[in-house]
Amino acid sequence: MIAWWLRHDRRISDNSCWLFTLEEAAKTGEEVKVFFAWNRLHLATGIGGIPRMSALRIDWTQQDLQMMRTELAKHGLSLEETEGSALDWLRANRPSTLTYSFAVAHEERQDEDQLRPLVKRIQGFWTHSILEPDAIPGGFNQLPEVFTPFRHRIERENLRFKLPPLLVEPNVESPTSSSLAFPFEPGEASALARLISYMGNPEGAAEYKTRRNGLLGTEYSTKFSPWLASGALSPRRIWQACLNLEESLGGSPEVEWIRVELLWREYFQWVAYRAGSRLFIKKGFREQSPRAGFNARAFQRWVDGLTGDDFVNAGMRELAETGYSSNRARQNLASYLIHDLGIDWRYGAAYFEAQLLDYDPASNWANWAYLAGVGNDPRPVRRFNTIKQAQDYDANRAFRKAWLHES
Ligand SMILES: Cc1cc2nc3c(=O)[nH]c(=O)nc-3n(C[C@H](O)[C@H](O)[C@H](O)COP(=O)(O)OP(=O)(O)OC[C@H]3O[C@@H](n4cnc5c(N)ncnc54)[C@H](O)[C@@H]3O)c2cc1C
Repeated sequence: MIAWWLRHDRRISDNSCWLFTLEEAAKTGEEVKVFFAWNRLHLATGIGGIPRMSALRIDWTQQDLQMMRTELAKHGLSLEETEGSALDWLRANRPSTLTYSFAVAHEERQDEDQLRPLVKRIQGFWTHSILEPDAIPGGFNQLPEVFTPFRHRIERENLRFKLPPLLVEPNVESPTSSSLAFPFEPGEASALARLISYMGNPEGAAEYKTRRNGLLGTEYSTKFSPWLASGALSPRRIWQACLNLEESLGGSPEVEWIRVELLWREYFQWVAYRAGSRLFIKKGFREQSPRAGFNARAFQRWVDGLTGDDFVNAGMRELAETGYSSNRARQNLASYLIHDLGIDWRYGAAYFEAQLLDYDPASNWANWAYLAGVGNDPRPVRRFNTIKQAQDYDANRAFRKAWLHES
């Protein structure tokens, strides 16, 4: 039997792992089983007793698996979910071949290491990133310490992808909203519909760079992140969709900036891959830990959106109620916890991990480390003045009114 261990690669189109699994089954005549491991042990609680996954993120993931189950059924396959680990599942099922997508973060890689002795043939694939480690310009071992040289190296490569045709029909429509940032459903069909609608909207991708610091509604940024995190959307497909749009517009710095942001994601994937467990320790990549500690009451007030700062409070309430937060808000929420409340950044990162629908270990922990001054930032301190930020980005208080439910 061939087993596909479904992880953050929950799509059918542009998925080398899925294609290999199907081809192998056709060649050998073996049965295919697809499984997803919740690994409740990992999910119990993390630092400070913070749950690893909020009810919102569990619900989103369950719905996503349901969508995947529907797609797999079209190929005569079912999807097994196990409460335990992938290791438990393999011990019980003993496949001859195991296929899966590689992960970059420490814990997920430990999961992979555990499986190796158990299966005769293991085939891994890079489906979550634009590049594979061997294809990183200058070599993975020469990964720059900061983002800009990484970006320039990749830009010099003029990356283009010839993507295979879509194997899943996109939803007919993708919702838009002027108030809610993320009114979307999980799954590949919704992800593809959003890609098509955002790329085609003259006030969407074509104005991305200008509007990306917005706080309200669907169109100020791509909102691709939750689908990127689950794997419903391939970063290569987005990259190529941007290039196609740029070409049709005769060049567009607005659209090009989406690719710059995708490179931040890419950079942090490889930073996490190289860092291993160091990404999750207080001192990060520095010699000395920051002096921050933990104040349970102040932390809880931050979580509940009850600090003395109404801009931060609005952001925290949006995050708690929806599982989404804009990049502008995230930077302020994190900076406030680290620099205004003086709390150890890892507590904030752990809360975001639980809460964010788009939780991605590399993007989350590397962004937090960056803001805490222990990551890949040439500047020692990256503190946001949240009062000024509110004036600059929420001058009419629309964001605060919406999330503090002010009339
Ligand atoms: C403290 C903090 C925690 C974060 N945690 C996560 C996380 O767990 N998962 C996650 O996907 N992003 C995370 N981000 C990055 C960023 O905030 C989100 O990717 C972005 O807000 C998602 O909305 P969008 O898809 O509309 O982004 P857009 O502005 O449309 O950007 C397009 C894509 O580029 C990537 N991207 C943009 N900014 C960043 C960035 N700073 N770092 C890495 N990738 C980026 C994302 O994949 C995003 O979908 C975090 C940022 C901060 C400051």
